[in-house]
Amino acid sequence: MKTFNVPVIYRSPLITAIKNSRKQLDRMKKDFTPTVLDFGPLKVLLARHFGFCFGVENAIEIAFRTLDENPDKRIFLLSEMIHNPHVNNDLLARGVQFIMDTAGKQLVPWESLNPEDIVIIPAFGTTLEIEAKLTSLGIAPLQYNTTCPFVERVWNKAEQIGQQSYTVIVHGKPGHEETRATFSHSTSSTPTVVVKDMAEAQLLATFITGEKPAAEFYELFKGQYSPGFDVVKDLQRVGVVNQTTMLATETQAIADYIRNVMMDRYALTAATAGEHFADARDTLCYATNDNQSAVTGLLQEEADLAIVVGGYNSSNTSHLVELCEERLPTFFISSDEKLVSANEVEHWDFHHKQELHSFTFLPQKEQVTIMLTSGASCPDALVEAVIRKLLSFYGLEHKIEELAAKFK
Ligand code: SF4
Repeated sequence: MKTFNVPVIYRSPLITAIKNSRKQLDRMKKDFTPTVLDFGPLKVLLARHFGFCFGVENAIEIAFRTLDENPDKRIFLLSEMIHNPHVNNDLLARGVQFIMDTAGKQLVPWESLNPEDIVIIPAFGTTLEIEAKLTSLGIAPLQYNTTCPFVERVWNKAEQIGQQSYTVIVHGKPGHEETRATFSHSTSSTPTVVVKDMAEAQLLATFITGEKPAAEFYELFKGQYSPGFDVVKDLQRVGVVNQTTMLATETQAIADYIRNVMMDRYALTAATAGEHFADARDTLCYATNDNQSAVTGLLQEEADLAIVVGGYNSSNTSHLVELCEERLPTFFISSDEKLVSANEVEHWDFHHKQELHSFTFLPQKEQVTIMLTSGASCPDALVEAVIRKLLSFYGLEHKIEELAAKFK
């Protein structure tokens, strides 16, 4: 896979060496067992895959190169480039301005932009409406485009099934930048509706079967369907695509569920299912699959707790947390600074969108085992910092050098 020029502050030579060593031994990525870092009183089980993905490295390279090459220009990002506060703060510190927040609230008025300005499209992509807005301001919308190719692949898939007269059901978070962009692109070629989870897929199914009166759809799915959506006509042929970072098991369950609903509704067989259901279930990206499979591999092991590092508004990271917390106490932290002491941790409760302060953290026992992973927008340098911080709680800081020597 292509390598990118990412600022060295985000890299960790130690983590890179560990990842390279695993890659050498498992080129086909079939082994999802963790890397065991045994420090005696502390054992860290490091996920097989974690950290910066292709799309994030691509976006970072373009954004920092644009800054270097255009010292005299005003540089804007449509919104956060990726969902990691460290990277976004570094860009802000270098003078980049965000035009919108992640919820789409305007921070910089469009009228204040001029044709000389540079506007970078983030890795999530953007809507056709925003592209048109930039064009109307004299700014070429795709000149500084960091949209991840795996997101564009979803748009292409939506367009492809749209051209075959299927309505697109997007499994995604309706307010997420990527889902808003996918919704916009899909809507340009076919009727489109967003479902955020299985409960909403089941609700949508009641309109497919006619169980609920069509009129109720427009209130229940307000803001989640394309203009002119005809709930009777537009739910007769459907296909499911997804936000690239959803939970793989849920997205598959939703596609299977909707397919079964269509088969029952139209008395189809496996051979004729395609008459009403387009098979488009492969739109999760490779990083989401790898990172979630690596967590599944982690969870085959025994441990006392899990730590997941990443931005609190990161969708892919929150799904890793979701998987871990089904099995063991899990702490979602944005950086090593959240590990205040051996007895104290500040961590994010993504269910209730609040930071919690816990005072029971590391258990008192002979050897504590911790599972460790991070999201696709989290720099490896932060994962190394977390390992160093944990070691410091045991007076074992020097062990990091021994570990580095082992992976040289
Ligand atoms: S998580 Fe996947 S889709 Fe998102 S930026 Fe990374 S590679 Fe691209």
